Amino acid sequence: MRKRTIGAAAGIGLAGAAGIAFYGGQVPTAQIYGPTIHRNPGAGKKIALTYDDGPNPVHTPQLLSLLDRFGARATFFSIGMWAEREPGLLREMEAAGHAIGNHTHTHPTMPLLSSAEVKDELRRCRAAVEASGIEFSRANGGMLMRPPYGRRRPGTLRAMREEGYEPVTWSVTCFDWRRTATRRSIARHASHAGPGDIILMHDGNNHVPDADRSRSVGATQDTLERYSAEGYEFVTVPELMA
Ligand SMILES: [Zn+2]
Repeated sequence: MRKRTIGAAAGIGLAGAAGIAFYGGQVPTAQIYGPTIHRNPGAGKKIALTYDDGPNPVHTPQLLSLLDRFGARATFFSIGMWAEREPGLLREMEAAGHAIGNHTHTHPTMPLLSSAEVKDELRRCRAAVEASGIEFSRANGGMLMRPPYGRRRPGTLRAMREEGYEPVTWSVTCFDWRRTATRRSIARHASHAGPGDIILMHDGNNHVPDADRSRSVGATQDTLERYSAEGYEFVTVPELMA
């Protein structure tokens, strides 16, 4: 059974309003606060790899050469305060055909912020990315945006949409942020993906710009090898939703 099925069942099993609020705010596939891009089963043998919390001066370049080797495209959700430091890396990502989305400026827990604070986080990240000469990619008419921790509530979603963003979550979690994660455990989680899935991994970390993501890079290589052999194509989120 896939992880998301287990997660959704556990969420629904919680009784009462608190349970519903937990489900809508935490489970990436939950749709009760308005539709969020999380997968496209109609896409056929296509998978969207997504990487959060970069750009990372050490591990993002490794990932870019790896993806290039497999003819794969991915989607990067950048943190504004790291994007400010890596304009060249952002341009390299865009030139290689990857998609880039907003992951806020400082990676706050968005449901704790006011609408004005949410908008400020989005604007500062956008300014940082646009200063490098590139724009956020779009799907379903909005710029790509991933809420930190996948957390959102109706007010946060409204503020995001008012700023012109389309929220993107995921359908396969690899738990690569856990200290106990290994290349093998990350690749094993990724191996639950099927047609149209969006896989969540990390090329960075919100505390330090050059966090060690070698295990995620290794697991990406395993995932590219496994699914390429099965005839899958690795596409960006806009390509997956087209
Ligand atoms: Zn994040």
